Amino acid sequence: MISIYDTLARKVSEVQSSGSTVNVYCCGPTVYRDAHVGNLRTFLLADVIHRALIQQGTKVNFIQNITDVGHMSEDVQGEDKMLQQAQLEERDPFEIARAYEAEFHNDLRRLNILPANAYPRASETINLMQQYITKLIDGGFAYATPSGSVYFDSRSFETYGAISGNRLDSLKPGHRYEFTDEGDKRFHADWALWKAAGLRTEMVWDSPWGLGFPGWHIECTAMSLSLLDNRIDVHVGGIDLRFPHHENERAQSNAVTGSEAVGMWVHGEHLLFEGRKMSKSSGNVVLLQEIINRGIDPLALRLCLLENRYRAQMDLTWAALEAANSTLRRWRNSLATWGSDVTANADSEVSSAIEKDLDTPRAILRLRAIEKDSQIPPQHKRAIFLHADQVLGLELTRASINKPLSPEQASLLSQRASAREQKNWSQSDLLRDELLAQGVSISDGPAGQSWSWT
Ligand code: AMP
Ligand code: ZN
Repeated sequence: MISIYDTLARKVSEVQSSGSTVNVYCCGPTVYRDAHVGNLRTFLLADVIHRALIQQGTKVNFIQNITDVGHMSEDVQGEDKMLQQAQLEERDPFEIARAYEAEFHNDLRRLNILPANAYPRASETINLMQQYITKLIDGGFAYATPSGSVYFDSRSFETYGAISGNRLDSLKPGHRYEFTDEGDKRFHADWALWKAAGLRTEMVWDSPWGLGFPGWHIECTAMSLSLLDNRIDVHVGGIDLRFPHHENERAQSNAVTGSEAVGMWVHGEHLLFEGRKMSKSSGNVVLLQEIINRGIDPLALRLCLLENRYRAQMDLTWAALEAANSTLRRWRNSLATWGSDVTANADSEVSSAIEKDLDTPRAILRLRAIEKDSQIPPQHKRAIFLHADQVLGLELTRASINKPLSPEQASLLSQRASAREQKNWSQSDLLRDELLAQGVSISDGPAGQSWSWT
């Protein structure tokens, strides 16, 4: 069985399921911008859990939501992230949401993340959210206000704060999360389930309380409870969501079901890049596309992330990505020489590392030792690597491509070098994209451009 650290229980516990299927829910992206490699680290954590369970023969029902309404910005008071971006790009907010959602799926595919059973969109779950809000009002857990908003009554939920340790009495008014929910609520720690539209005209819906839009936290309660039959065995998200998002979600979901709706709360620690926090406002955001543009296999990012404990903060660097890229290449070449027609076979140390709190770095260290061990027959090595790859997802059987460029591709490459010399950046970008579409990835270094097959 797989054991994982449960933030609520504050210990490593076995994944339990109420039926024959393990229900997994992972908070999805807010689709107002591209997911950065930090976001992808969290989505990869859910994938490792998903794959480890499948490897054990468990059926998994995995749901990940798409937040396309209601996630308020921390930078601009009371502004929806989607609408803020729509203004900036002068585009329709739904058009923006669909474009970034498509990019999100593209990133998942390139990182070899197994698809979820469903990706419900918040904007298409409005009725369902309203039903849950009505249930909460009827149960005495929420109240509507004269302005047409509905708030969760935090004092009605006794164990509020149990995940994060932020107890109600220590949450002072004016806490930094408070501004987004200001209005006519009765208590400073209450949060909006439904917000009256006010002056807002886009992304608003009719409701029993008047025109308005849903709060962010209720979306995860509505989607997880309805799609997973009121029982979420494993709930995954980044560490920043512990409070207030998961605290609020737990209060809502438990209030609806009358029981502990989530079996275990799993949180991935944050990713830094070259020593700095990744955030849009600090300009330190790295996208998967940038990694690919440098000629690095996207699965080298996957390997890099897996070489670090999910529960520890991690600093990603270009040097680490380059190193992972060459490891990946070497492993693929080795597997090709270690034989064929071999069926996957588990190594007990690799398996126990994964089973005990998803210790992928230990599993990878063990694989490195196996790789070097001359006592182990090559066929046996291949069998172990194949088995490990069911969870690591590095596509180790993919052959490295050593074929030369076609004359047309070579010509495009030299045209790009000339464009760069003439500082014609738009032409050089166009040529790079054209080559990329043909599977040729270009990176620009101090010695000029170099290329590799993607
Ligand atoms: P968002 O699209 O901002 O709602 O975030 C999607 C997911 O990425 C959430 O689970 C966040 O907790 C997670 N996340 C945000 N920043 C980072 C980071 N730097 N490292 C790892 N996960 C992150
Ligand atoms: Zn969520």
